[in-house]
Amino acid sequence: MKFLKYKYTLSSTNESSRKYAPCEICGQHASEVFIQTEYKRYEFEHNGIKYEGWRLIDMNFGHKECLLKIRKNQTGGEVD
Ligand SMILES: [Zn+2]
Repeated sequence: MKFLKYKYTLSSTNESSRKYAPCEICGQHASEVFIQTEYKRYEFEHNGIKYEGWRLIDMNFGHKECLLKIRKNQTGGEVD
């Protein structure tokens, strides 16, 4: 069965690199710094109970465009 393997949230800090560090991806100043969190899907069975959900695996700060660029392919992934 196919599931989305990764999912992302993106939100603005409403602050620039003067408050936060430069963009983690390109190293340049950002007038608006965004935070992106990356979640990976998990699914397993234990004693007949099925567990599934999302696990936070990464968090990055930077330009919105840079953060969108580093996203992994989210569609059609087979769950590990
Ligand atoms: Zn950048």
